[in-house]
Amino acid sequence: MYPKPNSSPRRIKTSIMKTIRCERCDEVLNPDRVVTLELSNTDGKYYLVLPIDHVSQGGFDFGKACSLSQLKEDHPWMKGSKFMTSMVKNSIKKKL
Ligand SMILES: [Zn+2]
Repeated sequence: MYPKPNSSPRRIKTSIMKTIRCERCDEVLNPDRVVTLELSNTDGKYYLVLPIDHVSQGGFDFGKACSLSQLKEDHPWMKGSKFMTSMVKNSIKKKL
């Protein structure tokens, strides 16, 4: 698994056009459509925004659908939450 804790910016110095693959289904992703979820070392769950008291294991890239599936799995109370869907959409938009 990567990245190691405390490794600063994730995709450093390797080729800029590095292929990004979905952490969940291994599909090759369009860099503009990637959703980055942060993995918590504290509870082993993925978050769009890591809770303040959690230790981050780093960011992982997901396709949009997979990021939603992952979030629903890790946070069942979010199921069907429009809030979460719009959070994911916004996180994509910010990169465009
Ligand atoms: Zn995927």
